[in-house]
This record gives sequence, C-alpha cells and structure tokens, in this order.
Amino acid sequence: TPARPLAVRDDNKQVDAKAKRREKPSALCKTPPSLIKNKDGQSYQRGLCLGEGGFARCFQVNTGDGTLYAAKTIAKASLTNEKTRLKLFAEIRIHRSLQHQNVVRYIDCFEDDVNVYILLEICSNSTLMELVRRRKRLLEVEARYYLLQVLAAVNHMHNKLVIHRDLKLGNIFIDSDMNIKIGDFGLAARLESKSQRRYTVCGTPNYISPEVLVRPHEHSFPADIWGIGVILYAMVFGKPPFQEKDVKVIYERIKQHDLVFPDNARVSQSCIELIQWMLEADPAQRPTIDQVLNHRWFAGEFTDVISVSALKGVPHIKV
Ligand code: ADP
Repeated sequence: TPARPLAVRDDNKQVDAKAKRREKPSALCKTPPSLIKNKDGQSYQRGLCLGEGGFARCFQVNTGDGTLYAAKTIAKASLTNEKTRLKLFAEIRIHRSLQHQNVVRYIDCFEDDVNVYILLEICSNSTLMELVRRRKRLLEVEARYYLLQVLAAVNHMHNKLVIHRDLKLGNIFIDSDMNIKIGDFGLAARLESKSQRRYTVCGTPNYISPEVLVRPHEHSFPADIWGIGVILYAMVFGKPPFQEKDVKVIYERIKQHDLVFPDNARVSQSCIELIQWMLEADPAQRPTIDQVLNHRWFAGEFTDVISVSALKGVPHIKV
C-alpha cells in the first residue's frame, strides 16, 4: 500500500527492490489545471513544478496580484487508505497550528476532484540539503546563523507540544532572503502533555535517534535535539555523522554510538563539544534548547544576514 512511510523515510538513496517496483504515490499526482480554484472562488494560476517528494508534488502558484505560494499537491488517488488520509489530516492540523517566522507558513488547504492542495509560503532558495551539497560544507559562522533559526522554530513547536520527528537538512527550506523555514510536518506528533511519550518508529535513517531505533522506541522532544545535532554536524563536516551506503550499517553505528569527527575539517573544539552533547546516547543527557543557545559555541563570530551569494560559494561575512 502507498502508506506514508510508516517506519522510516529515506533520503539515503538506499535501494529497496520492492519499493522500486511500486509506483511512487507522487507519480499519481497529475499536473493540476492551469487555474486552480478553491471553494471560496479564489483562483490560483499554476506555475512551475518546485519539486517532488514521496507523496506530493509541489507547484508554484500565483494569486493573480503577483503573490506567489507553493501548492503542495496530493493526488486523491493516493489517499484511498484510511490511515494515509488520517496522517494527512494530522499533518495539516499540526502545521496550521504553528505560526513562527522560521516555520513554513501555512496558508490554506482545499481540494478539487483529483487533488488536495496545501498552500504554503514559498521558499525559493531550496533547502539546506541543496546548499550543503553545492558548497560541500558551510563556515561555522553560517552554521550558527542557520542553527539559531532552527532552534527558534523548534522551540516554538516544542512549546506547542509538537515533536517534528523528521528534522533534517532536506526539511529546512530557505526563502528569498536566506531566512530558513522548517517544513514538512508529515511525521510530526502533538503530545497531550509534556510527559507523554511516543513509540512509533519514524524518521530518516541518517537522523534517527538511538531511543527511536531501540525497543521500546520510547521518545519525546530530545529526539528533535538529536536531529539538530546531526544537522549541525552535517553543515560543518559536509556529511551526516553516521552516513553509510547500507541503512542497516547506519542503524548499527547509531546503536553503538559510533560517533567520529574527521580531523581534517578545521572545525572548532566548541562546535564538536556542542555536537557531542546534542548527540548524547541517553536522551535525558541532551541539552534543552536554552542550554544549546547558552553554549559557548554561540558566543563565536555572529552575523544576522547572509547574502544569496552564499548559495554559490563561500560568502564574505562581516562580523
Ligand atoms: P513529501 O511530503 O511528499 O515529501 P515535500 O513536502 O517534501 O513532499 O515536498 C516535495 C518537494 O516540493 C520538496 O522537496 C521541495 O522541493 C518542494 N517544496 C515543498 N515545500 C516547498 C515550499 N514551501 N517552497 C518551495 N518548494 C517546496
């Protein structure tokens, strides 16, 4: 069934023979009409395809007065299964409850005969994944600039009792002003109280925390702190810490806590120390968001603007 990745979402390009034979649900998504109408009579002109995920295709749309949005488009044909539908509703409910300058803004949701559309703030400069791929690795001052915004967004989510559970470079979008916005709440969960725990195994192999991986899979907010630790590592070293071709080996390395730091990358000791703290095997030992913000690494060189030239090469940053 085309259920939304029950277990693990895979950006690791792992080849799963069975999955390859199956059609990707997003392939069911036909190009929407050139004019998409919602039930209030508002219409949107469809533009270019912005990208494709496992489930959705995303198109640029124009309100007619020049305002651009991203329309995440999900084929109704891929929502035949009740569980899949409930997951989509949960994603929408959680996303629309969040309002923060570093969270992709939720605008609206509507449907026509063939698709469900989720209208979102458009992030025209792709994601941190694409940025790190192009640049190989980022300067620490840049990583600090991005991480601060990630932490602000995650702090907002956690205050609303939402765990994202899929924080990774590919879910951190960049807008036209190089602000970052966290998106894709497809695996997010809202707790009923701070002390509630979750048990569903989910995430992306490179970013998944040991407590999610190991029975009874009990996890909570610290699973997101782990994800942020992997993100910081990937920004400054250019690859995630447990990266391997074989997903099983990734899981083994995470369970064994096989964390190594390349010594040729000229990354500061304070940065390594912060990463080690966020990647503590025991979730109770990981820092809170406030503790991360108060770590000495954040007292280093700082900038509050990054120019779009950083998408192409090492930026000149005035600190
Ligand atoms: P899925 O839930 O199926 O994985 P995503 O939310 O990842 O779908 O969206 C698929 C692709 O659409 C993304 O990889 C990205 O390229 C593009 N995309 C998604 N949201 C936006 C946005 N707000 N602005 C610009 N592009 C977006």
